[in-house]
Amino acid sequence: MQNIKPGLTTLSDALEIAFKEVGQRTDVEERPLSECFGAVLRADVIAKVNVPSVDNSAMDGYALRFVDLADVDGPLDVVGSSMAGHPFDGEIPTGKAVRIATGAAIPKGADCVIIQENVTANDDETIIEINPDVIARTKRDQNIRRAGEDIKKGAVVLAAGSVLRPQDVAIAAGQGCQTLTVSKPISVAVFSTGDELAKPGDPLPPGGIYDSNRFAMIGMLKNIGCTVTDLGLLADDFDVLKDALGKAAKSHDVIMTSGGVSVGRADLLKPVVDQLGEIHAWKLAIKPGKPLMRGKIGDCLVLGLPGNPVAVLVAGLLFAVPLLRHMMGADRAQSKPARMPVRAGFDFKRGTGRREWLRAQLVQNDDGEHVAMAFNSTSSGMLSSMVWADGLIEVPEDCGQISVGDDVLYLPLRGLQ
Ligand code: AMP
Ligand code: MG
Repeated sequence: MQNIKPGLTTLSDALEIAFKEVGQRTDVEERPLSECFGAVLRADVIAKVNVPSVDNSAMDGYALRFVDLADVDGPLDVVGSSMAGHPFDGEIPTGKAVRIATGAAIPKGADCVIIQENVTANDDETIIEINPDVIARTKRDQNIRRAGEDIKKGAVVLAAGSVLRPQDVAIAAGQGCQTLTVSKPISVAVFSTGDELAKPGDPLPPGGIYDSNRFAMIGMLKNIGCTVTDLGLLADDFDVLKDALGKAAKSHDVIMTSGGVSVGRADLLKPVVDQLGEIHAWKLAIKPGKPLMRGKIGDCLVLGLPGNPVAVLVAGLLFAVPLLRHMMGADRAQSKPARMPVRAGFDFKRGTGRREWLRAQLVQNDDGEHVAMAFNSTSSGMLSSMVWADGLIEVPEDCGQISVGDDVLYLPLRGLQ
């Protein structure tokens, strides 16, 4: 049994519940390949053609019949060529060679390719000589890529639920696809809340701060293919928040906010969502990001992220992004972040009961070993820690201490963003 702070839900439980309650959307569209990067594929892609489509050469050289090599005791005639897109016409005659380029079709009858570096050719490449050592080393099928050895016709080359990377879109193009069936983008309205906030470009009032969170939110959302409406800043005022959220909920799938979800007097987001709709979850056993809120106004999902800049990113990348990816049809494995074991290069002590993420960098220590170093502060107000970090170290709920040399879990930020 994990030692969880009373009244808090673990991140895993909160995500599982949210996955179920929010569900997956069914609206899909056919999108041109070059606009599919980062989108969620919603229909399997089945290979329509073998890749390679025919047996072809892996190298530049000379194609011949392997059995003929046993009888070679002098120069060989080169009877023609097979170039990429221009195959040799007909069958290779016994005892002859055909000049061949990388990717070109293997002439009928040939079953090995000797690379050009191992051959001496005359000036017009009509006669070659092959060194006996090379002949002794040559094997049948050498330097031949067989038809279908990369992709067999009928195979599932991409599975529904994949988040499309460059190589995924490329393999679809290799099958002649012009479009892919992907999720329609989710529309998200984004607000920052707080009386202390100023828009970048406006003068900074005494004690004020520029609104940075809105840009962290917009970035995370755009990276996963959402359509974002930037609705700017909202004051800590019940009626202002109620009016803005009520309107945005009518025309968006999701509202994402920052700030105003704690327990202070100016934290009005929860009462506003409570009045306009329902609160489904509030307060997770996580650090930073504890006051994260999930609710609903009509059919619109509301994600209230905390105000502290690191909390916005951590709660955003570990809760909001997986949930929105799931909503868009991503499969489980791709909805959740990758975690990899690394060795700690730092000491750390804390009170247990929440899962915590330390900002981390992978570095090489004096012994040449790769270890994770933690930022020198755990303050969730220090955005510079997220800029410094290349990843996060995950500290499990029950773990109160990390010592140099311990195995810890590292989440690469690049894999999250
Ligand atoms: P709150 O959750 O609204 O109490 O905010 C917690 C902390 O985060 C406060 O110190 C805020 O000033 C800061 N903060 C809130 N919103 C933003 C924002 N949009 N950009 C930068 N910092 C913020
Ligand atoms: Mg606030």
